[in-house]
Amino acid sequence: MNHALRTARILHFIQGQARDGGSGRYGDVFDPATGQVQAQVALASTADVTAAVDAAQAAFPAWAATTPLNRARILFKFKELLERHADEIAACITSEHGKVLADARGELTRGLEVVEFACGAPHLLKGEHSINVGRDVDSYTEYAPLGVVAGITPFNFPCMVPMWMFPVALACGNTFVLKPSERDPGTPMILARLLKEAGLPDGVFNVVHGDKEAVDALLDDPRVQALSFVGSTPIAEYIYSRGSANGKRVQALGGAKNHMVVLPDADLDQAAGALLGAGYGSAGERCMAISVAVCVGEATADALVSRLKPMVETLKIGPGCQGDPDMGPLVTGAHRDKVRGYVDAGVAEGARLVVDGRGLEVPGAEAGFFLGGCLFDHVTADMRIYREEIFGPVLCVVRVPDFEAALRLVNEHEYGNGTAVFTRDGDAARQFAHRVQAGMVGINVPIPVPMAFHSFGGWKRSLFGPLHMHGPDGVRFYTRLKTITARWPTGVRDPEFVMPTMK
Ligand code: NAD
Repeated sequence: MNHALRTARILHFIQGQARDGGSGRYGDVFDPATGQVQAQVALASTADVTAAVDAAQAAFPAWAATTPLNRARILFKFKELLERHADEIAACITSEHGKVLADARGELTRGLEVVEFACGAPHLLKGEHSINVGRDVDSYTEYAPLGVVAGITPFNFPCMVPMWMFPVALACGNTFVLKPSERDPGTPMILARLLKEAGLPDGVFNVVHGDKEAVDALLDDPRVQALSFVGSTPIAEYIYSRGSANGKRVQALGGAKNHMVVLPDADLDQAAGALLGAGYGSAGERCMAISVAVCVGEATADALVSRLKPMVETLKIGPGCQGDPDMGPLVTGAHRDKVRGYVDAGVAEGARLVVDGRGLEVPGAEAGFFLGGCLFDHVTADMRIYREEIFGPVLCVVRVPDFEAALRLVNEHEYGNGTAVFTRDGDAARQFAHRVQAGMVGINVPIPVPMAFHSFGGWKRSLFGPLHMHGPDGVRFYTRLKTITARWPTGVRDPEFVMPTMK
C-alpha cells in the first residue's frame, strides 16, 4: 500500500472547511521521539493560497464592520476553549515537536496571554481627540484594519508564535491567512477548529500548509496587506525584501545567539541553574535560548563550568510525553545531524568539549532524534560554533577579562535578540541594560521574554522591520492611522488662501 495512504492527512483550513488542495504534494510529519512518520501534510500550490486569500478577502468587510466589542467576545470564547482543550493542544505539540509536555503547556499559556491582551480590543483601538485644533475645528484619530494579513511561522513554537500574531490581527478587524511550519502543522489546525467553535465567521481565519511555493504566493499576492514572519535570519531577510518590494508592511523576526554575561559577583549557583534551563530547555530549540555564557574572569569561568558539568551530564532526556524529562528529542533527524555536525566542528576548531552528548542512546526510543546536552569551554569569537546559531542543546562558554570586553562581545555579534546579565551589582546591571545592543534584556533573568502586553522583538539581524510583535507594537502593525479634522456649519468661514494657523 502507498505510504501516503497509511498515515493521517493534515489538510488546509479555508473558508471554515478542511481542504486537501490541488497540488498533490505532501510532506512527512514525524514523531521525533520515535523517529516514525505519523502524518502527511498537504503542501499548498499557488492556487490553494489564492483560494485562502479569496476567502479572507471576501470575509474582510463584514469582519471589519463587526464592533471591536463583538470581536473581543469571540476571542473571550476562544480563550475559554483553549483552556478547555489544553491537554489536547499540549499533546499535539509534544507529539510533533518533541518538547516535554509541561513545556508545551507553558507555550500554550504564553500564547493564551496574547489572546487575553487582544480581548481588550475596544480599549486598544481607542484613538485620540483634540477639541479646537483651529477655531471650531476638532480632530480625532482612528485605527483602521489593513485587510488580509498573513503569518508565516517556525517549527519551534507551533502554538505560541501563531498566537503572537492572529489574536491581535483579528481583534483589530483584519482577516488572516496562516502558513505554519510544515514540520509540526497539527496544532494550528486545532486553533482553527476552536476559533470556528468560538463563533469566528468562516473565512476570517485560514490555514495553508506548505513550503517556499506557498510562502512566495503570499509574498506576491497584492491583496495581502501585511506579513508577519518568524524563523531563521536568511528567510526573514528574504521575506522582508520581497514583501516590502511588493508594497507590503512586513515584520520579520530572525535567528539569535543569546549571550548571558556572568560577572564575578554573581551568585554562581543561581547562574548555573539559569544556564541549564535556558540552554537546554526545549533541547535548545528556542529563539530566546541562551547559547553563549560569557564569563568575566578565569575564576568565574572555572567555577561556573565545574558547576555546570555534572548538571549537563545528568540531564534527564527522553520522550516528551513519558515521565518528567528535562528535555526531549530534536525536531527531525536532519536537524539532529546538523546540530551534531556543529559539535564535531567545535572540536575540530579547538574548543574544549567538557560534556559530549553525541553518544546518547535513550532505551526504548533508539530511533528517536535525541542528542545529549553538550558543553563547550574556551570557545572564541572566530569559531563557527560561536558565530552561527546552532539551535540545539549546545552551550558555549567564552572567557573574557572584564565587563567592557563582555559588552563588546555581545554588541559585535550579528544577532541581537535577547541577552542577560547575572550580577549583584546594580550599577553594572544598569550599564549593561542601557548599552547593550539587543531587543530584550534580562537582569538575573535568563530568558527575558516580554509579556503579551509588552512587545517582543530583537535588534540587528534578529528583526527586519520597525515594529515588534504583540503588545502596543502589534496593534500599530495591524492598523493604519487615520486623522479626521472636522468643522460644522457654524464654524465655516470665508475661503483661506494661506496655511491656516490658530486664530
Ligand atoms: P525556517 O526559517 O526554516 O522556517 C520558518 C518558516 O519559513 C516556515 O514556515 C517555513 O516553511 C518557511 N520557509 C522555510 N524555507 C523557506 C524558503 N526558502 N522560502 C520561503 N519560506 C521558507 O525556521 P525554522 O527552522 O522553522 O525555525 C527555527 C528558526 O526560527 C531559528 O532560526 C530561530 O531562531 C527562529 N525563531 C526566531 C524567533 C524570534 O522571535 N526571533 C522565534 C522563534 C524562532
